[in-house]
Amino acid sequence: MPGTELFGAEERKEIEDVLSTGIMFRFNHDAQRNNIWKAKDFEAEAKKITGAKYALAVSNGSAAILAALAASGIGTGDEVICPPFTYIATIEAVLMLGALPVFAEIDETLCLSAEGIKKAITPKTKAVCLVHMCGGNANMDEIMAVVKEHKLKLVEDAGQAFAASYKGTATGLFGSAGAYSFDFFKIATAGEGGIFVTNDENIYKLADSYCDHGHDHVGNNRGMENHPIIGFNYRISELHAAVGAAQTRKVPAIREANLKNKAFLQKELSKVEGISFSKLGDDNGDSGTFLNILMPDTETAKRTVDEFNKAGVAGFNYWFTNMYHFINQWEHIKGLKTASKLPIQLLGAPQDYHNLDIPKTQAVVGRLISFGIRCTWTEEELKALAAKISECATKALKPVNA
Ligand SMILES: *Cc1c(COP(=O)(O)O)cnc(C)c1O
Repeated sequence: MPGTELFGAEERKEIEDVLSTGIMFRFNHDAQRNNIWKAKDFEAEAKKITGAKYALAVSNGSAAILAALAASGIGTGDEVICPPFTYIATIEAVLMLGALPVFAEIDETLCLSAEGIKKAITPKTKAVCLVHMCGGNANMDEIMAVVKEHKLKLVEDAGQAFAASYKGTATGLFGSAGAYSFDFFKIATAGEGGIFVTNDENIYKLADSYCDHGHDHVGNNRGMENHPIIGFNYRISELHAAVGAAQTRKVPAIREANLKNKAFLQKELSKVEGISFSKLGDDNGDSGTFLNILMPDTETAKRTVDEFNKAGVAGFNYWFTNMYHFINQWEHIKGLKTASKLPIQLLGAPQDYHNLDIPKTQAVVGRLISFGIRCTWTEEELKALAAKISECATKALKPVNA
């Protein structure tokens, strides 16, 4: 959790600025705020890293993906191709907008594959919601070719992939809009926060209004602003934005340390025959937040996890059975259990969610064990971790009676 590892004087100073005026609201109050605009600062820092023309700081990454879908015109009855391996917010956002998730296959990039997307297209498909998982990047050239051929919209949930890129373009900027999360577990944190990005002025304006009760933010009398659309409240507070701005300034250094630590571990672990790693669409565009180990098969991966637990190895995720990021654990989604009726319950699910045919995804996630990279690891800690992982994996790869 690199951002949280580096919480210190810089974050405290930004918070103090806000406390010095007491203006915790991001808009208006020009006379009292002493020219302190932390949400705007956070947006400016995010634009520096991503190169996005427009950035909007919002209350969290879930709101950012919701706004990205809504501002892209995705709504009731639209089929949206989604990955079955993602943080649940992606699927929730699609459902809350009345759209219908269609699950497609991922590949060893841990993201939707072009082939998987192609197979899931129907006449009702409106969009692809691509998720750049585990800090990496999808195979964008192949995916964009399918998106263009079938005239689909692309929205990117880059919740875990801030500071990741593909051939020089930031993840999140390939389609109409993208989203990053700055929750407590990401490369940088605002405590709670998210950033919506787009290069399209109209889509930005829609998101800006959507996330603040439809306000157009023109003029300096909030009570008399126009409301071009119906929206809701997904605003970020100045206190959270203050932390987000300070943390985002640290991201280039965090990424550099992450990549160095990840490269060290990969070099050591590739000496173990049987260990391989997830792929990247572009090797140069990794944010380095996760070391993603692929074991030869699910059974070996499960044995490796058992060995880790016996040896007291910590800091890893086995998504296949132990985490909420994989469809096998989404009984509430499959059963459409809701507090109140959603459009999908009237329209019907586009697939039988209980019997999805996703063998490639099951195989990849079954083989996958991910370690969160720490940017503050010392050389001794890295060596010790590499040795422990190697030892446990070697045991798991050679069962006693083999
Ligand atoms: C973290 C995350 C989110 C949600 O972000 P929050 O800030 O926690 O709301 C959405 N999508 C992905 C892929 C994430 O990892």
